[in-house]
Amino acid sequence: MHEFSIIDLHCHSSASDGALSPTEVVEFAVSRHLKVLALTDHDTIDGIPQAQAAAELAGLQLIPGIEISTSWRNFQIHVVGLFMDPQHDKLQELLARQRQKRDERAVEIGAKLERLGFADALARTKEQAAPGAAITRGNYARFIVSTGACQTSDEAFNKYLKRGRPAYVNTQWGSVAAAVETVAAAGGVAVLAHPRRYVMTNTKLRELIADFKAAGGEALEVASAQQRPADRDYLAQLCGRFDLLASAGSDFHQAGVWRDLGFNLQLPANCTPLWQSARWGERFSVHDQRRSAAAQPST
Ligand code: AMP
Ligand code: MN
Ligand code: MN
Ligand code: MN
Repeated sequence: MHEFSIIDLHCHSSASDGALSPTEVVEFAVSRHLKVLALTDHDTIDGIPQAQAAAELAGLQLIPGIEISTSWRNFQIHVVGLFMDPQHDKLQELLARQRQKRDERAVEIGAKLERLGFADALARTKEQAAPGAAITRGNYARFIVSTGACQTSDEAFNKYLKRGRPAYVNTQWGSVAAAVETVAAAGGVAVLAHPRRYVMTNTKLRELIADFKAAGGEALEVASAQQRPADRDYLAQLCGRFDLLASAGSDFHQAGVWRDLGFNLQLPANCTPLWQSARWGERFSVHDQRRSAAAQPST
């Protein structure tokens, strides 16, 4: 039986390609009785302050997070970072690099779509996104659907945006190791996002996980909302094999039955949830101390 969890460590807001504002994501999480939520927008932490403020009002624990785009061999791999210090120099440098790559890529995708007949593709995609949002292919997919050229985002990907299709741009992101090292340097925990969604053999996946672990990665996202039970079990096994913790995240982007917030995220019994590790307690207490220190009246 699928159930709702109280912890969800992967979701998106309008700071990248989510449909809801950070405040709305938090309110939606509260309505779903979630207690702990990590906001993990693509290559940006811009939504965190708004989410944090909404979470404090609602009594939800909001974990500052990010989903970093990386390249590993020929694959685009996503690394989730949780608990980073947003001011850390290395994180700030990575954010600037990612932003520049995303901006350049958005221009290139827009130009390709224009040649395919979508007038003002970039401007109109930006118009439909929140001001300053990190533009992803998800935003472009929404724009394409809004023109009536496709019925669903999935169709827009299959027709235009995915690898091998005419508006695809092959971006060289930074390495998995660089992303993991930056998250760790900024005091965060690196999680390999949705490891089974990369179309690769089990042998390659184990090589990826070995590289991730060697760079300082701490957890695999074992439970995702849209996943075959056998994949979840396999990832739980890999946690044991590589001495990694297990994370759970829906990858929520918008309300609906598709990747619903907090839904179907139960971890198998043979892996250790990230939130039951000593590291998690340390991070939460550091967090709480910071918050209470900030709340002290100045004398
Ligand atoms: P990007 O990081 O710009 O390559 O965009 C990746 C985002 O596009 C993912 O996080 C998803 O939100 C979205 N995406 C990828 N593949 C699909 C798909 N087949 N259908 C709908 N959305 C997708
Ligand atoms: Mn996305
Ligand atoms: Mn992802
Ligand atoms: Mn995601």
